[in-house]
Amino acid sequence: MERLFLKHDQKVECLLCPHGCMLAKGAKGICGVRRSTGKEIELATDGIVSGYSVDPVEKKPLYHFFPGMEILSVGSYGCNLRCDFCQNWAISQGTDDRQQGRMAPERIAAEAGSARNNIGVAFTYNEPVVWFEFMRDIALKVKKEGLYTVMVSNGFVNPGLMDEITGFIDAFNIDLKAFRGDFYKKLTGAGIEPVKNALKQISRAGRHLEITTLIIPGRNDSDEEMLEESAWIAGELGDSVPLHLSRYFPAYRRNDPPTPQSTLDRLYDAASTNLKYVYLGNTTSMKGQNTKCISCGTVVTKRSGYFIQNTGLDEKGRCLECGNRVYENFSFSFQQER
Ligand code: SF4
Repeated sequence: MERLFLKHDQKVECLLCPHGCMLAKGAKGICGVRRSTGKEIELATDGIVSGYSVDPVEKKPLYHFFPGMEILSVGSYGCNLRCDFCQNWAISQGTDDRQQGRMAPERIAAEAGSARNNIGVAFTYNEPVVWFEFMRDIALKVKKEGLYTVMVSNGFVNPGLMDEITGFIDAFNIDLKAFRGDFYKKLTGAGIEPVKNALKQISRAGRHLEITTLIIPGRNDSDEEMLEESAWIAGELGDSVPLHLSRYFPAYRRNDPPTPQSTLDRLYDAASTNLKYVYLGNTTSMKGQNTKCISCGTVVTKRSGYFIQNTGLDEKGRCLECGNRVYENFSFSFQQER
């Protein structure tokens, strides 16, 4: 088990993420939820849940991990990044550790096991790295139930911790917020290299991986940057890693207008020159929604919002037309029970 802190003479160092906060007794880290007792670092929000809902797995977004199924999604508070455009800022930048209701990991795992069409538990809504101990407690119990675990993360995490996380998380959606270090530095307060390293670690560990980039007008929306990002993903992680380009809306401290559909369409085309699966999110456009078999071009999954139809697949996730295996992780039960 990875060490989570290191005691120094006067302070305690948090080892979870590259910020490496050195905390005097009673102080909280940048994430706002990890606090020094003087001897160790405790999670002030242990057991506190900010969001709890059974969502379509597509909403994480994961399009190639049991498409059409649902997942119990759990969030808490805090984040180790300070994105001025955060779309979930009310909980990510909140530090609510009042003695409100706390949920036991056993209850969450049991409810995941009894929910219909549910594949497991997703750790999402705010950054799961900052509530690592609570996530791990839930995930280990969920695995005992024979269910799956998903983590939706910014990927700003130390390598030792990510090694441990890949031992109990089955599928990841990682934000790659841009492909420029100065974007990360100015808009998130973090560095890009730890995120790229985390992506490579997940890939090497053989875990399911999808990536999301929120497209912000004038910040990360050039063809050149998208070509670089998609080429890096293809070269380092594989050209079958799905990339979700998500539409930005004004939130938190950023008031730029929403991303034009024409920008998303242009970047979809740019990314598609390097990657086999590119999707558009947060949009009502029909472009970039469906999944095609890359072998014969047949549409195998149709998506309209969160209405999902696996129209061109057999029970093992193979294309009905040519037999190509489209999804490694697939269940037909959802379609059969509808
Ligand atoms: S997890 Fe929080 S306390 Fe720990 S290093 Fe990162 S920001 Fe600091």
